[in-house]
Amino acid sequence: MAFVRVSSWLRSAADVVLPRRCSACGTALTGDERYVCRRCLMELPRTRFESIDFNDFEQRFAGQVPVERAVSYFYYERHSPYAAILHDIKYHGMPQLGVWMGERAAAAMAPSGCFDGVDLLVPVPLHFTKLADRGYNQSERIATGVARKLGVPVVDALKALHATTTQTHKTAQQRLAGKEGVFAVKSKHTATLAGKHILLVDDVVTTGATLMACARAIKAVPGTTLSLFTLAAAHLD
Ligand SMILES: [Zn+2]
Repeated sequence: MAFVRVSSWLRSAADVVLPRRCSACGTALTGDERYVCRRCLMELPRTRFESIDFNDFEQRFAGQVPVERAVSYFYYERHSPYAAILHDIKYHGMPQLGVWMGERAAAAMAPSGCFDGVDLLVPVPLHFTKLADRGYNQSERIATGVARKLGVPVVDALKALHATTTQTHKTAQQRLAGKEGVFAVKSKHTATLAGKHILLVDDVVTTGATLMACARAIKAVPGTTLSLFTLAAAHLD
């Protein structure tokens, strides 16, 4: 109890010296606010995919790879303040924000039943050269937060066979073709995945090409059932 009081006093004192900022709107955080302010959390542009049958995300996979559910926590728009959350997780060295957002997403979405029956989480992997640059895989950090709430393990079961940086200038169609076969299940994890319901996790879904390539690699393991989760979803139009 004394420790709690001292630590909250220290945090308040630290907030005066070096204010912690909301990752989305940049205002100073107060009291027990962490990473994102109360107002931004209240106004988070939720997709509510978990409550929509054959939602926009699931439609992107129709006829491509069979998935049970495909859900995202909030909408990503490039110029929205909420985009900054993803940028902080990915580029600004805030992996702990990824864990925290993953936990929040799971807590908000699990009651819908969208994660029911999931045995384990698999993050979309980073090519090892990118992993060496960044020091962490943002999708693995997000998966860790989700897994903590669901009480299931995260298994780093996929490997990226080529760096995907050269893909950015291509069209969606070229990307779809180019990402085929870029991911594979690590041989030591084939038995871990067999017969399991796997939740594949990424930070954001845009065209879905990366997720689709990963999904195909996972579905090649016998008896797997697949669901998809991303922290954010870009509007497709
Ligand atoms: Zn805010």
